Amino acid sequence: MTPMIQPNRLLAVGAHPDDIDFGLGGTVTSLVNQGTEVVYCVITDGDAGGFDPTVPRSEIPNIRRNEQRAAADILGVSRVHFLGYRDGQLTVTQELRRDISRIIRKETPDVVVIQSPIRNIDQMYASHPDHIAAGEAAMAAIYPDSRNPFAHPSLVADEDLPAWTVPQTWVTNYPEPNYWVDITETFDRKIAALRAHVSQTEHMTDLAERMRSRAALTAADGDLPSGHTAEAFRVLDTR
Ligand SMILES: [Zn+2]
Repeated sequence: MTPMIQPNRLLAVGAHPDDIDFGLGGTVTSLVNQGTEVVYCVITDGDAGGFDPTVPRSEIPNIRRNEQRAAADILGVSRVHFLGYRDGQLTVTQELRRDISRIIRKETPDVVVIQSPIRNIDQMYASHPDHIAAGEAAMAAIYPDSRNPFAHPSLVADEDLPAWTVPQTWVTNYPEPNYWVDITETFDRKIAALRAHVSQTEHMTDLAERMRSRAALTAADGDLPSGHTAEAFRVLDTR
């Protein structure tokens, strides 16, 4: 098994604003506290989300970007890159692979966190089609695109972004995780970040309880002590 490294810079890629905070908000807080620089790449503007019918749909992208920035601030994230794709319509295209490769080459992370490109049949919500497309496109950006100077040649020719190899990849919502991060100490901060996604979580009066029971099951799955909470990953050596 590949040991989980303590990254200098971690890039987390998510399909929607809030995906990264739901998937690894506790882990992000722990890593930032230990000196890791964390950067987000959010692919769509979440413009199919939001539950308030009185809010004009054209305002949703701005609202959700601002919510994502606020959540990232709460967790100590350094930067958020928005790719501006349409929510609910994500597919694996050369354009998306190039756009993620651009962020990888700009940020030169030693860890990239992606959503699972494989459907977890037991987790319907976590296996949203956009998440699977985001995971597959990010995996293709990690290998082979970012490390191949001849892939997406405009990144070198026009943007002066040389090839970059991502040494380690962590996958969220993978059916068979192999690493568990104890988030007992950072759980409350994660909930605060999720609350910053007001348009998504305002109506969830039991958000903390639901997240706590789910994270407790994850902790138990990873043989952590009773009463602890955790986030789980599949850690891949991608050197
Ligand atoms: Zn999502």
